[in-house]
Amino acid sequence: MEQLSISNLSKTYKNGVQALQSINLELSTGMFGLLGPNGAGKSTLMRIIATLQDADEGSIVFNGIDVFKHKQDVRKTLGYLPQQFGVYPRISALDLLTHFAILKGISHKNQRIDLVNALLHKTNLYEVRHQYLGGFSGGMKQRFGIAQALLNNPKLLIVDEPTAGLDPKERNQFYFLLSELSEQAIVILSTHIVDDVKELCTKMAIINQGQVILDGEPRSLIDQLTGQIFQKTIAKHEIESYRAAYSVINEQHYLGQPLIQILSESAPPGFTASQVGLEEVYFTQLTM
Ligand code: ADP
Repeated sequence: MEQLSISNLSKTYKNGVQALQSINLELSTGMFGLLGPNGAGKSTLMRIIATLQDADEGSIVFNGIDVFKHKQDVRKTLGYLPQQFGVYPRISALDLLTHFAILKGISHKNQRIDLVNALLHKTNLYEVRHQYLGGFSGGMKQRFGIAQALLNNPKLLIVDEPTAGLDPKERNQFYFLLSELSEQAIVILSTHIVDDVKELCTKMAIINQGQVILDGEPRSLIDQLTGQIFQKTIAKHEIESYRAAYSVINEQHYLGQPLIQILSESAPPGFTASQVGLEEVYFTQLTM
């Protein structure tokens, strides 16, 4: 069982932006979803865990090892897929993955060939291994990104906003791959897409303005909120008065009319109970 403990982690950029404010999180083997709006601090946290950036305060301990004191050791068991993973367009998947393997110090040729082939199979890229990366779809590029992140058989895999730009089928394939990997490693998935977390993650945290505002198991967070969210279709001109009277967590349109959801102990007149999912948990937290 892998274990990652993040304690009192803070980071302020030189321009004064407090990207992280005393973050505390406990992660173990499985998929961990880090959910939050753009600018919440997710990438900063991912980069710090990946040892690519320093924190101002706090500590991270991975399987008993102080990450900041032993960056080189941690890097040996860490895989990272950054938000923008650039690939060279005029090189084949096989050649670039082999090149990365050499850079990672896998110098024994037969061992390298076996590993590269195994990873191409694992990420479903073996059939297209001779094609130029420039011709790959978004999903294929992301799977290539995972293949390179797996070269050192990581026990901690960090993927930052990985599903942006993937079509639904590619997204599902990618989820499947991550979920398989999370059986034997800690996989941290950062995303602003609620669905990404809902599908996969055994544990999650919501982060906003550099702070963890909620963490737990998606299922129990949903259960805790069930029975407290109500909805009503209203007229457009009524929105302001509802905002003033209730704690409105979400406004959307249903068949051209505004549909609002509110947090309440019981149903006010005209409201019906909403089915509660992770979206409602997320919107409630961002409103409070
Ligand atoms: P997220 O990944 O959740 O979108 P980020 O970690 O990228 O959030 O950003 C958190 C905050 O820190 C934002 O306000 C962002 O503008 C700011 N920020 C990120 N990187 C830098 C940087 N290199 N210099 C200054 N501010 C930054």
